[in-house]
Amino acid sequence: MQRIARLRELSGARALLALKCFASWAVFPLMRQYMDGTTSSSLYEVRLGQEKFGGETHAYSVAYADHEIDAVLAHGDKIIFNSLSQLQRFGDKARAAGKPIGLRVNPGTSNSPYLLADPARPHSRLGEGDADKIAAVIDQLSGLMFHNNCENRSFDSFDQMLGQIEARYGALLARVQWVSLGGGIHFSAPDYPLERLAQRLKDFAQRHGVQVYLEPGEAAISGAATLEVSVLDVGCNGKQLAIVDSSTEAHMLDLLIYNLDARMEPNTGAHEYLVCGKTCLAGDIFGSFRFEQPLQVGDRLSIQDAAGYTMVKKNWFNGIAMPAIAVKRLDGRVELVRQFGYEDYAASLS
Ligand SMILES: *Cc1c(COP(=O)(O)O)cnc(C)c1O
Repeated sequence: MQRIARLRELSGARALLALKCFASWAVFPLMRQYMDGTTSSSLYEVRLGQEKFGGETHAYSVAYADHEIDAVLAHGDKIIFNSLSQLQRFGDKARAAGKPIGLRVNPGTSNSPYLLADPARPHSRLGEGDADKIAAVIDQLSGLMFHNNCENRSFDSFDQMLGQIEARYGALLARVQWVSLGGGIHFSAPDYPLERLAQRLKDFAQRHGVQVYLEPGEAAISGAATLEVSVLDVGCNGKQLAIVDSSTEAHMLDLLIYNLDARMEPNTGAHEYLVCGKTCLAGDIFGSFRFEQPLQVGDRLSIQDAAGYTMVKKNWFNGIAMPAIAVKRLDGRVELVRQFGYEDYAASLS
């Protein structure tokens, strides 16, 4: 949070939390001291942002339905359309509601290592790319949104892609008041050159006469939460196995989607175990980790980096109990925020 605040101060950019990455609102009172507001992917997110975070509330969605648009305009203070056809369909309503309108631009380049998460993938539906078509509606727009970074740890790569955007859309940038550069910039990593990024954003804002917004998701919460699990059973089948009271598919879905191992800490010692979830999915495995002592039933393990795209994706697969949500304060106090029970499970099903 302090790095975000410093980046805002040095660059003049505003920072909006991307709720699709992290939306555990118990900690919004802390986060709002360092960030300007939220951005969203849907009606429910924009409403949550307005009700629980406050500040600036950007509405964006790949597509709004007719029955959603009035509520979206009531909860958001800007609306960013994903396509020219959505702009055409709902632009009048947005103007009547007095809400500034933005359009998502797809610059056709990105740095995502995964096709699944690549907004510039072939036939992408994420944003309009044709500068001439955007120029034809530019008078209706007060801003543009670009989101084409994905956990990008390289300032040089960000800088280069921003240069491409300026070369391709410079004439349009000069016609709007604000530009959102999306999320996916990993500026909260300790070795990221925050000052160079800030200078680049400041120059960009001055050159084009725009207010810059950033929409950090992952960068706002990386390393901020753990999934605390307990060992339920140990066994051996060619390798030592430990089964825990959780599941990749139910509680850390991105490990499966992106074929990643969890991060366990500590991860040292002579005893190596495959740490496995308790669903019936054969490949429900958190990864292979090292421990100082042989694992025993009841041992507590701490899986790192459990905030981003994790707490928002929990599900009830196999009827596994959802992890409770607790906040650990800086002085060490642990506050239990929410526990989930059978009633929540049943209510999600019928
Ligand atoms: C996903 C997304 C973000 C947040 O991305 P992170 O990689 O979590 O920083 C921001 N803006 C838009 C439009 C997004 O789709």
